[in-house]
Amino acid sequence: MNTLEIERLVANYPLVQRLIDLEEVTWFNPITVTLEEGLPYVGLTSKEVAEAEARLRRFAPYLCLAFPEMQKSNGIIESEVVEIPAMQKALEQRYEQAIAGRVWLKKDSHLPISGSIKARGGIYAVLTYAEKLAIEAGILDVEDDYSIMFSDKFRQFFSQYSIAVGSTGNLGMSIGIISTKLGFSVNVHMSADAREWKKRKLREHGVNVVEYVQDYGVAVAQGRKQASSDPRCFFIDDENSKTLFLGYAVAGGRLKKQFEQMNITVDKNHPLFVYLPCGVGGGPGGVAFGLKLAFGDDVHCIFAEPTHSPCMLLGVHTGLHDNIAVQDLGIDNVTAADGLAVGRASGFVGRAMERLLDGFYTLDDREMYELLGMLASEENIQLEPSALAGMAGPARVCMHQHYLDNHHIGEEQIANATHLVWATGGGMVPAEEMARYIAAAKN
Ligand SMILES: *Cc1c(COP(=O)(O)O)cnc(C)c1O
Repeated sequence: MNTLEIERLVANYPLVQRLIDLEEVTWFNPITVTLEEGLPYVGLTSKEVAEAEARLRRFAPYLCLAFPEMQKSNGIIESEVVEIPAMQKALEQRYEQAIAGRVWLKKDSHLPISGSIKARGGIYAVLTYAEKLAIEAGILDVEDDYSIMFSDKFRQFFSQYSIAVGSTGNLGMSIGIISTKLGFSVNVHMSADAREWKKRKLREHGVNVVEYVQDYGVAVAQGRKQASSDPRCFFIDDENSKTLFLGYAVAGGRLKKQFEQMNITVDKNHPLFVYLPCGVGGGPGGVAFGLKLAFGDDVHCIFAEPTHSPCMLLGVHTGLHDNIAVQDLGIDNVTAADGLAVGRASGFVGRAMERLLDGFYTLDDREMYELLGMLASEENIQLEPSALAGMAGPARVCMHQHYLDNHHIGEEQIANATHLVWATGGGMVPAEEMARYIAAAKN
């Protein structure tokens, strides 16, 4: 983009200047519609999410065998919801803002196998591919007990195929670990920001890690290019994959059941606000889709991004989606929140979901560290920086009265609100790395 084009964009969208200036901003989406009106634009249905849930159930016996730590959840990859009342108080003090309702944490950070939200989409995408190959080869039927896949016969079969993915770290971890377990050979194309320990861990699992000095967009493009020349290689396309999206979406119905068991009500008088850290958009987009299907218009989904990587806010706000990258505006896409270090949003997610997403905000890296330290000391829960992006959300919502008014959320309703901060990663961060994060938070 040249200077003139940027000036024109800023004239039409003054908020863009604040993004360029790396300010922390909050933007509530003026074009939201009801689920019924918005659903046709998504292009996916509750039936497809139900099929994804059923597929994950078919694989549960396999996952129990392949990952013994999964036995306690009977092979279902799901995380806990915990209340964080001490953190809620600390947030009120930090932002000098009362937070009406109760604040909870969704601990995808502690999902089995890979310790991040990517254990939903990434693993699901690999299982879908494996199932398809095995069924086409006539060695598997959907009625079978899928634990038969935990065998040399299947590992040998899958070893004829390979899987490739581009990642800032966590998607590579999820896909790498499950793929090598099944027997595939795997190439993970890692962007410059990916943490060293994630690369090391993957190599220990036998994954071929290809490193780039450039960012996520380049790692994905290179991975896609390499895979396209090999018909036996399946490229998991984080920028466009509906399969990944459906894997994430399964979270909605699962959360609904969890809330029922916990006697947490969600309805018109008890709104649910969910705060989702956003990178390319597949994870938060898919989860938001599942939440909308489960809770309808009573759930409000808010995306959080670093001030240095506000790609989804930029794409949805300007309507340019993946036709613009933050770098086009001179924003550097350099952030300690490595899971969110994405300069260009998914072309599919923004367009599919823009009518159903209530708001977007950005926060400074410094703020994520601050929140990381606060959560560790107040609640003894340790997360990676990206996973704290949602933590600023409850105060942002409560301080924007016009947004609440527009949605007919009065004093009574907000007092009944459930604020759910989606903790997207951190459960597998090595102790010495976590100690560095905590030290940085104290600085
Ligand atoms: C990947 C990731 C996200 C965001 O998911 P996207 O699909 O890239 O939007 C958030 N937090 C963490 C820790 C992640 O690894």
